[in-house]
Amino acid sequence: MSASTLIETDALVVGAGPVGLFQVFQLGLLGMSAQVVDALPEPGGQCVALYPDKPIYDVPGVPACSGRELAQRLLEQASPFLPRQADGQWASLHLNQRVASLRPTGDGRFELHTDHGQQFLARAVFVAAGAGAFVPRTLKMPGLALAPNVHHHLPAADATPAWAGQHLVVHGGGEEAVSAVLNLLAEAPERRPARLTLLHRRDAFQVDAELDAALREQLSLGSVQLALGLPDGAEYQQERPEEGLRSLRLLGADGQHHHLPLDHLLIRLGLSPKLGPLSEWGLTLERKQVAVSPDRFESSLPGVYAVGDINTYPGKKRLLLCGFHEATLAAHAAHAALHPDAPQHLLYTTTSPLLKARLGRG
Ligand SMILES: Cc1cc2nc3c(=O)[nH]c(=O)nc-3n(C[C@H](O)[C@H](O)[C@H](O)COP(=O)(O)OP(=O)(O)OC[C@H]3O[C@@H](n4cnc5c(N)ncnc54)[C@H](O)[C@@H]3O)c2cc1C
Repeated sequence: MSASTLIETDALVVGAGPVGLFQVFQLGLLGMSAQVVDALPEPGGQCVALYPDKPIYDVPGVPACSGRELAQRLLEQASPFLPRQADGQWASLHLNQRVASLRPTGDGRFELHTDHGQQFLARAVFVAAGAGAFVPRTLKMPGLALAPNVHHHLPAADATPAWAGQHLVVHGGGEEAVSAVLNLLAEAPERRPARLTLLHRRDAFQVDAELDAALREQLSLGSVQLALGLPDGAEYQQERPEEGLRSLRLLGADGQHHHLPLDHLLIRLGLSPKLGPLSEWGLTLERKQVAVSPDRFESSLPGVYAVGDINTYPGKKRLLLCGFHEATLAAHAAHAALHPDAPQHLLYTTTSPLLKARLGRG
């Protein structure tokens, strides 16, 4: 899909976290089309970005599932309304881009732009932005952002990793870095790097005892090498960052510099949420949260709803369950506002032929 196309939609959902995904499902049940945008390369929000392998025990009807499993289930549930194209890409899920601007058009609709130039014209907006757009923490070095062999995310399961068969350096000492190393080692041989180095400033990691033991075992087996030092300089191919990073300069504990040559660098220093442009959309904020009414979850700008961790109202709890409830009521409120003359009967998915047909189960 061309980045400059204007897409008209009933609803634009800002954020493909768990609440944004459930929002799409609820809108779909009510017959409303939705487009979704997320800054991250894969859907799932905090569940996938912060705790993919940790168990969640308090989702109703799901005694236990990991963050990644929950995201997969929400995607599957929303799939009738989030179709895939022939090439496997989602037709209405726009990843790796941030919604940068929101402007009422004056005819009851909203014009939104992403930082990749994608434009939307939406009849309602659902801000499901969590704590803001997740942006990876990175190394502050001139030129690094231009180097094509510097990465911050693991590739999707169906994409071939750029580093397959090459020397990959993973930088970080927390769970994101250590889990990445262990996950890389568990990959199919054709997806694995030929050589794997973990770079951290010291030989101690901020992870639980289980992860630490798993890493130590791989280090003792020699399947991953440990490089110690503080990266404070970069060398590029032909001295041009666009040609790729060639090596990192490390400051060792002995005060000496040495160089770490590499083919690819994967920086895993964690993610930090950036509220960013959202604060300029004219919505009333209270301590960086969008203030909403607790019956409609509508913001101070009529037609713009806020659901999940991004909103605040009396009694707010930042729990998945609460976000799902908010998405449900916000969808019904938006539907009633956009179709004031339509009957607003409550229908059950178990018994309504209309809902079953919308779900493709008629
Ligand atoms: C370690 C941990 C454990 C947790 N365990 C539990 C638990 O056991 N039970 C429970 O109920 N809750 C738990 N939570 C809380 C739960 O994860 C959150 O309540 C939930 O993720 C909120 O979902 P959300 O969709 O509102 O926001 P998020 O999951 O934060 O998703 C928001 C998404 O919006 C995107 N975004 C933001 N701004 C923009 C923009 N301008 N443009 C594009 N994209 C944007 C972000 O990149 C992000 O992907 C836990 C949280 C953490 C951190």
